[in-house]
Amino acid sequence: MFRCALCEEEVVIISKVCESCRNIKHLMTVYSRERIYEVLNNIFKREPEKQDNKIKVEKKKEIETLQESVDNYDNKDDLLKELKQKIKKK
Ligand SMILES: [Zn+2]
Repeated sequence: MFRCALCEEEVVIISKVCESCRNIKHLMTVYSRERIYEVLNNIFKREPEKQDNKIKVEKKKEIETLQESVDNYDNKDDLLKELKQKIKKK
């Protein structure tokens, strides 16, 4: 039996990291490792009362980034089709 390589708490059998920590790895794949470090450092290296404000700022930044990528899409019809297909698959 082994412990998760990240949290060092959960017992893992096949993989190196537990399911919760794998979600963090997944976020790194989606947003980049650097972005996840940045967000975690920005939020947790603050006093508790300032954390809520920082969380709001980070969420706003994420929404702006998404909005920007939608705006930069050349053909919005294609984007809509793509999104509709993704929704249908779920
Ligand atoms: Zn873990």
